[in-house]
Amino acid sequence: MRRKRKFRSMSEVANLTKLAREAASCRRCALWEHATQTVFGDGPPNARLMLVGEQPGDQEDLQGKPFVGPAGAVLRRALDEAGVDPAKAYVTNAVKHFKFVIQRGKRRIHQKPNVIEIEACRYWFEQELTTIRPEMVVALGATAARAVFGREMAIQRNRGRVIALGNGSRALITVHPSFLLRLPDESARDGIRALRRRPQAGRGAHTQIDRIQLQT
Ligand code: SF4
Repeated sequence: MRRKRKFRSMSEVANLTKLAREAASCRRCALWEHATQTVFGDGPPNARLMLVGEQPGDQEDLQGKPFVGPAGAVLRRALDEAGVDPAKAYVTNAVKHFKFVIQRGKRRIHQKPNVIEIEACRYWFEQELTTIRPEMVVALGATAARAVFGREMAIQRNRGRVIALGNGSRALITVHPSFLLRLPDESARDGIRALRRRPQAGRGAHTQIDRIQLQT
């Protein structure tokens, strides 16, 4: 049964703003040093759906907002197709600073965060979770799953399973939208339309969000 829409007091809204401000000067791991800024979560404090990615990418790092790059576009299309208003979801990342290496003197290439960095940044994810208390948390990929569940979770084995978290929220795991961008053929890169043609990819990113049915 769907829970009643949550009311949030001004102080709870302020908590989220305060958290974001505190995270802006976080030094819990070394990733802050080379990134442009902390990219904290974004979305309504009363969101019923929380989407958790891996870490900010190049565009997110520059703009200071999560999911504003190509993977974000894929995610928004997936939500649209599932009938979920993207503006009503809270989006965040397991790790809040961009980890990268410089290639050919200027290009910044994404690097996967390690366990120490994920664990250090989990502090912020837990604060977001406690403040927002969403009905459903969707972990997009392995790094997000590690942050959400606090341990390694096999993506293939757990994909689509709804698992209760201790705080009353439920969570499920699916692939990260960037997985779709890495698919080899052009049509597959076209995100959601490709999901329908390729059932393997579709199970990961579309039907699972579909099942959440958290239209607000
Ligand atoms: S990645 Fe997370 S834990 Fe590390 S410095 Fe940034 S905000 Fe802090």
